[in-house]
Amino acid sequence: MPHSINSEVCEGISECVKACPVDCIKQASGTNKKGTTYYFIDFSTCIDCGVCLSVCPIKNAVVSEERPDLQQI
Ligand code: SF4
Ligand code: SF4
Repeated sequence: MPHSINSEVCEGISECVKACPVDCIKQASGTNKKGTTYYFIDFSTCIDCGVCLSVCPIKNAVVSEERPDLQQI
């Protein structure tokens, strides 16, 4: 199951982007309700390695399941 980024929790720090081995974390075009540029995971290419979850410094920004209800694009 792919991982997801909770759009409203993400702080746009992008540690996950640099760490992802398959380059499937992309910057969203808009901002979240905090006014922060956020990132999202391409579910179709995520290999569920969990690296993004381990490097993200923000609690609950990355969740280890496919959650299109939490992740905006
Ligand atoms: S998911 Fe975490 S590491 Fe990735 S951009 Fe958002 S806050 Fe940063
Ligand atoms: S689980 Fe792995 S492949 Fe999927 S977005 Fe996170 S770092 Fe990338």
